[in-house]
Amino acid sequence: MPFKKIGLSDELVQGILATGYTAPTEIQSEVIPHAIQGHDIIGCAQTGTGKTAAFVLPILNRLTDEKAKSKSKRKRFVQALILTPTRELAVQIEEAIAEYGRFLHLKALSIYGGVNIQRQIDKLRRGVDIVVATPGRLMDHMDRETINLSRLKVFVIDEADRMFDMGFVNDVKKIVSVLPEKRQTLLFSATMPEAVRKLTEGIQNKPIKIQIGKQHNPIETVTQHIYRMQREFKMDLLMHMLKEEQMYSTLIFSRTRYGADKISRRLSKAGIKSVAIHSNRTQAQRQQALDGFKQGKYQVMVATDIAARGIDVEGLSHVINYDVPTYAEDYVHRIGRTGRAMQTGDAITLVSSEEHKYLKKIEEFTGLKMKPKRYLGFDHRKIDKTKEDNSGHEEKESNHKTRSRSEKAKKRRKSNAETSNWSDERQSKKKRPTTRSNSEGGGKKRSNSQGGKKKANSQGNKRNDQGPGGKKKKRPHKKRRPNKKRRPLSDD
Ligand code: AMP
Repeated sequence: MPFKKIGLSDELVQGILATGYTAPTEIQSEVIPHAIQGHDIIGCAQTGTGKTAAFVLPILNRLTDEKAKSKSKRKRFVQALILTPTRELAVQIEEAIAEYGRFLHLKALSIYGGVNIQRQIDKLRRGVDIVVATPGRLMDHMDRETINLSRLKVFVIDEADRMFDMGFVNDVKKIVSVLPEKRQTLLFSATMPEAVRKLTEGIQNKPIKIQIGKQHNPIETVTQHIYRMQREFKMDLLMHMLKEEQMYSTLIFSRTRYGADKISRRLSKAGIKSVAIHSNRTQAQRQQALDGFKQGKYQVMVATDIAARGIDVEGLSHVINYDVPTYAEDYVHRIGRTGRAMQTGDAITLVSSEEHKYLKKIEEFTGLKMKPKRYLGFDHRKIDKTKEDNSGHEEKESNHKTRSRSEKAKKRRKSNAETSNWSDERQSKKKRPTTRSNSEGGGKKRSNSQGGKKKANSQGNKRNDQGPGGKKKKRPHKKRRPNKKRRPLSDD
């Protein structure tokens, strides 16, 4: 069905066509007609399905219509409020409004933290029709009484489940409490946990529920790849993939901010244009990173989950989970950054032995069993060892050590041919200093990171005691390897 047939005005349809859309997506066809009629709506759809236009277009349609009928055409007051969890998403929605509404005479403003509030106050004073806001900064404006929401007609909560995850629930409730009761409320959420469902009960009036696709399913246009390996090989494989494959626009997810910076630095050093985005960076840096990535200035953007929702980069070819996300929902959101707008994309997840538990949770959540693969052209010895769960790194070290020991022993045998009656006991004593100095290196590294230390203690012990099938594993009795225990588990 063409856009015109779902009830949108001519000028708006022109704007949509100029944006390059020819027909509405499924969520748009379902939501827009009901929204135009003024119904409250709960929209459940995966990211990448065209959800933004599904709520922006009816808003633009309604406000233009009402403006045409109004006597004070020139006067602007906030008639629509869109709440979103992240600043990047707010900017993106503001841009979408400007694109779709290019032939309309409506003004939108995004208000979010991390930037000068005065400019926002000035713009609000001059008058806007639509505000796209993050909850914290909006509350700030409400406290200062620099925003007037008393004439609001449409209220949208976008990414409601994320809003809850980020702890915004009380802010949302406070905001809702000052809005006019007579309004249209549209709520969009990728998933519908109990907390979100409860919220909708209090703030909506007989909402129409629209569900597109199954809630937990990752978007179908994304091909998922799983590679199992020890953590220390992840960087090798990442570099290898980025150099060997045509990964022209790649988003890499790291669990921590520190990790994101580190990955980005390592890639930049290797000549791969890369930038990091996370909440420790200023808003200007975040926006610059995102803009640079969108414009193709950087081949890679390394992000924490701050970029897992809503971020829309046209033609993003690959999403790489350098770390497996702790929450299964985040996996679906992360990989949904690619394969958007009916294009295809690849999602690659690097899974270390410590992360198998998260992969299992993802499989349960999505109902998909993901088969680990071999990465063609990569040194498989590195990956194969990891199949034994805990032995990859240790074997590597032990190979290395065995070699150096036997080399040393050879030398020693040569030079001490006449005193070749050393006992095994004496040999091993003699070797210990080497081992100890290795372990001191590991220990030192670990003591820099408290998180790493904890993990290393709790998980490291488990790994040492259990074989792959959960059975007690026979310890190699002849040598103790202190450095095996002390190996730092995490880059972060
Ligand atoms: P969203 O789910 O709103 O983040 O949208 C995902 C992507 O789909 C964005 O790149 C939009 O520009 C694009 N998009 C939205 N609606 C349409 C449409 N009707 N036709 C083609 N692309 C669309």
